[in-house]
Amino acid sequence: MSTRHVVIVGSGPAGLTAALYAARANLQPLVIEGLEAGGQLMLTTMVENFPGYRDGVLGPDLMAEMRAQAGRFGAEIVQGNVTLVDTRVRPFVVRTSEAEYSARALIIATGASARMLGLPSERTLMGHGVSTCATCDGYFFRGQEIAVVGGGDSAMEEAIFLTKFASKVTVVHRRDALRASKIMQDKARANSNIAWLLDTEVEEIQDTGKGAVTAMVVRNSKTGARAVVPVSGVFVAIGHTPNTSLLKGQLEMDANGYIVTHDGVQTTVPGVFACGDVQDHVYRQAITAAGTGCMAALDAERYLET
Ligand code: NAP
Repeated sequence: MSTRHVVIVGSGPAGLTAALYAARANLQPLVIEGLEAGGQLMLTTMVENFPGYRDGVLGPDLMAEMRAQAGRFGAEIVQGNVTLVDTRVRPFVVRTSEAEYSARALIIATGASARMLGLPSERTLMGHGVSTCATCDGYFFRGQEIAVVGGGDSAMEEAIFLTKFASKVTVVHRRDALRASKIMQDKARANSNIAWLLDTEVEEIQDTGKGAVTAMVVRNSKTGARAVVPVSGVFVAIGHTPNTSLLKGQLEMDANGYIVTHDGVQTTVPGVFACGDVQDHVYRQAITAAGTGCMAALDAERYLET
C-alpha cells in the first residue's frame, strides 16, 4: 500500500472543493465518498444561492458538477463506508469495508446530518415541500402557510427568518416548554406571523400521492387529539448531528461533537484538517463549506511542503 499525499473523507461541497484544489496542486488526492455521497445537497431540489448559477441548479446536479470538476484534474474518487480513521499513527490510516489507505495529510469533510422525524412521508417529500434549510428554501414559500418543527434555537431562528416570505409560520413542538434561549423565544413570540402548536407531534406529512406538501397530521401529546393542519411546507429544525463518531477521542470536539478548528481549518492533530459542516454549526451553507474545503487543501499543501 503506497502512502498518499492526502486522503479526503467525505464528498459534499467541502470534500469535493478540497479535492479540486488538492488535485490542481498535483497532490493526487483520494476522496472516499462515504455512504451519503454528495452530502446534504443530494436531499434538496433547487439551489438558488450558490454563486454562479443565475437560474439556480438542482442540488444533485451541482454535486455531479463538483465531482466531475475534481475528477478532471485527477482526483480519485472511490465509494466506501469508512470504518476506521487513525490519526494517532504516521502516516495516517483510513480503512473502509473494502480497502485500507494511508496518507501523510488527512482532510475530514464528513459533514453533519440533519436530524429527521423519521416519518416515511418526510423522506419522500424532502425537497418537495419538506426542507431542513430555511436559508436555502424559504424563498420558495412566498405568501404561503408553512410549519417549522422543533423547539430549539434553530427552530426559532428558522421560524423568524421564514416570516420574511411565508404569510404564516406555525411552530410545532413536542413539549409545552421551548428549549430555545430566552432571547430567541422572546423574539419569536413577539412575531405576529408565528403561530404555536405546543405539546404537539407531527404524525404524518401529506400528500405523498401528489408529490407535494399539502398538510400535516398532528397529535396533541397530552390529550391524544389529532388534527389536520393545511400547510405547503414543513421545515424540520430539530438539530444536526456531526458525523464525527469515528474520530472521538482523537481530535478535540465541542460538547455537541463538532470538530474544533483553529487558525482556519487546523484540528488539534497536525496534518489533519477539517472543513465544512463537520466543524461549522453556525453557517452550514454549501458555499461556506466549499470555502473551508479550499482552505483545507491549501493548508494541507503547505503542511506537506514542510
Ligand atoms: P437543539 O437545541 O438540540 O434543539 C432541538 C429541538 O428539536 C428541541 O426542542 C427538541 O425537543 C426537538 N427535537 C429533537 N428531536 C426531536 C424529534 N425526534 N421529534 C420532535 N422534536 C424533536 O438543536 P438546535 O436548535 O439545532 O440547536 C443546536 C445548538 O446550536 C444549540 O446549542 C443552540 O443554542 C445553538 N444555536 C444557536 C442559535 C443562535 O443563538 N442564534 C441558532 C441556532 C442554533 P425537546 O426540547 O423536547 O428535546
